[in-house]
Amino acid sequence: MKKPEWLKVKVNPAELKHMEEFLKTVKLNTVCQSAHCPNMGECFSRRTATFMIMGNICTRNCRFCAVEKGHPAPLDEDEPRRVAEAARALKLRHAVVTCVTRDDLPDGGASHFARTVRELKKIPGLTVEVLVSDFRGDEGAIRTVVESKPDVINHNLETVPRLYPAVRPMADYERSLFLLKKVKELDPAIYTKSGIMVGLGETEEEVIGLMKDLIGVGCDMMTIGQYLRPSSSHIAVVEYVTPEQFERYRKIGYDLGFKYVASGPLVRSSYNAAEGMDTVNES
Ligand code: SF4
Ligand code: SF4
Repeated sequence: MKKPEWLKVKVNPAELKHMEEFLKTVKLNTVCQSAHCPNMGECFSRRTATFMIMGNICTRNCRFCAVEKGHPAPLDEDEPRRVAEAARALKLRHAVVTCVTRDDLPDGGASHFARTVRELKKIPGLTVEVLVSDFRGDEGAIRTVVESKPDVINHNLETVPRLYPAVRPMADYERSLFLLKKVKELDPAIYTKSGIMVGLGETEEEVIGLMKDLIGVGCDMMTIGQYLRPSSSHIAVVEYVTPEQFERYRKIGYDLGFKYVASGPLVRSSYNAAEGMDTVNES
């Protein structure tokens, strides 16, 4: 299927190279690079990136995702400190940290996440957003991350429940909703956020149903973006959703009660995350 004009992006190769070299020096992975994010040109030129901790090999097999699958390496104990060092060097005011899913670790990597948040929180004025896996619904692991006090806990539903078997075979829609609900129960001061990709064959009615489910668990922020197929071995795009439909979803989201909704063809869950943080703080 041919990509429409609204999905074509301009990249500044010099900015990209500069950031890539920096990330190599600090020995850190980003989801921007691992997921082939179309916004790298824009985000990197603003010195913004989403750090991906605990390696770049995932134990799950989501059919939309470009991250390498397999057996990850042991944790790098020095990584939390280096993430904070990179955030300082890049002069970030809002840091976003995500991870591959580590079903091989007893706590799914929750304690490593918490150490990373604590290192980042030593930086005055910096707000921290974590984009976490579902920790297989382990309440202890969720509590560990919550107690490290990030400003935002983001967990993506990714798609409507009907499409889970085809798109996220190792995930569970209810388990993901449970995580978001649990965070709010444990610490209502932490903002919760979730995101989906559209263009996988979902209907508007299904998207609205999912939005209502998120509101039902107290979710504050939502992101909606177009699914782009990383390669021919990934699940196919069913439809390129129009910018008008994205705008419609944005309005519906606000009408349903979200404090912040980012909806557009190139929106990713970490896209303009600082703006989302500013918006909820002002609301
Ligand atoms: Fe990709 Fe996350 Fe799925 Fe792993 S769990 S395959 S990193 S989307
Ligand atoms: Fe990285 Fe997120 Fe920007 Fe994409 S939108 S380049 S993942 S920070």
